[in-house]
Amino acid sequence: MTARLALFASLLLGGCVAGAMLHGAVGAMLGVAVGACLWFAIDSYQANRVLRWLRAGQLRGAPTVGGWWGEAAHRARRALALREEQKEDAERRLEAFLAAIRTSPNGVVLLDPEGRIEWCNQTAASHFGLDPARDLQQHVVNLLRDPDFSAFYNSRRHDSDVVIPAPGSTSGRPRRLSLHLHPYGEGRLLLLSRDVTALEQAEVMRRDFVANVSHEIRTPLTVLSGFVETLQSLDLPKEERDRYLHMMGQQAQRMQTLVSDLLTLSRLEGSPLPGQGEWTPASAFLAQCEEEGRALADALGKKLELRFEPPPPVALGGTPRELQSAFSNLVTNAVRYTPGGGSVEAGLRCTESGRWEWSVRDTGPGIAAEHLPRLTERFYRVDRSRSRETGGTGLGLAIVKHVVQRHGGELRIVSTPGAGSTFTIILPSARVRPLEPALTDTAARPATESAAG
Ligand code: ADP
Repeated sequence: MTARLALFASLLLGGCVAGAMLHGAVGAMLGVAVGACLWFAIDSYQANRVLRWLRAGQLRGAPTVGGWWGEAAHRARRALALREEQKEDAERRLEAFLAAIRTSPNGVVLLDPEGRIEWCNQTAASHFGLDPARDLQQHVVNLLRDPDFSAFYNSRRHDSDVVIPAPGSTSGRPRRLSLHLHPYGEGRLLLLSRDVTALEQAEVMRRDFVANVSHEIRTPLTVLSGFVETLQSLDLPKEERDRYLHMMGQQAQRMQTLVSDLLTLSRLEGSPLPGQGEWTPASAFLAQCEEEGRALADALGKKLELRFEPPPPVALGGTPRELQSAFSNLVTNAVRYTPGGGSVEAGLRCTESGRWEWSVRDTGPGIAAEHLPRLTERFYRVDRSRSRETGGTGLGLAIVKHVVQRHGGELRIVSTPGAGSTFTIILPSARVRPLEPALTDTAARPATESAAG
């Protein structure tokens, strides 16, 4: 303000003095008028520069002028800089927010009040088969042609979700989506999609598993309670009673084996992967396999030729209980399913690739190709009654597969109906090492996981 007044006054005074010196009193008045015009011209020039800069709306290129106009330009520049900063900050935050929604494992679609797609992330695009550019502004009900979804969308009651087959889902490769609608803003909707295929499959498996377990337990329980009733109501001779009690014992044993196999499976699923730490001589595993195989053949009253190759001087790394259970299971299965007069051969050998194979070959009935991929499913049996007759639970190969996978190996099954089967556990070379001399004779036997299978 002071500078402005000082400039104005000095121009008038300068004009007045110069005019007076040239033309006396009239000159002084003219000088004042010229000084005023000059001040007006300078002020207008400065105002014009500031206005031109403000009209351009650019932060850069602010004019350097003094006085009021200079201050006005300075303040305007500061306000513009602040606005620019806030805008950049808001853009950064919006970008981060959109990036988070883009990478969300769930599909997100923003719908306007008419139900048209305003924006969707890549997951939603792949869930619904949308093109995020082409399908914008399309009505969602026209793109998602599913009666359940249309009813859900039109009901305007969005407190639950709806599960529909994903567009493009086939019976061979079913895909299911769970959809949620959330109102937001003024009449807008947020459509969230989640792929629940795996979840639903797991639920079906869980239900099947519970049904299977119930069925497996109910059968011996029914038999047991029948015997109990008979014993309670009839006064049977001692011989008959003993026979009944023996059969009751068998049913109880069957339930016990089943429960034990179920516990083994759940332990395998819940425990951490076996480390490399514990090394057991292969001879210990194989001796127990042979003992179990021969004892089972005797118990079943079968005349089988059982041939066990001499164990190589190696030690196996992993959880001994688990490995023993898997090795023994293949032997006991071969003994159980091979009819009398047949033969079972087993051996642990090193392959050309450096891996090791525990292979059990039998001359049993063999298995048709269509059953092979399903043999390791829980409770899957080719011949249910034969499995039961020999004390099978239908869980043995499921346990073997788990154990083998946990040890980084694989289970291979080769079989020809009528010509026998070969079950092979393949172990990675890292799980096998030469036997330390001190261990050669001290082959302590590992405990066995239950696997009646
Ligand atoms: P199970 O307790 O019924 O033996 P497993 O899981 O051990 O259950 O085996 C699954 C099915 O695989 C068996 O029911 C049987 O039909 C078939 N199987 C397993 N081993 C043999 C074998 N050596 N020869 C023929 N079939 C076999």
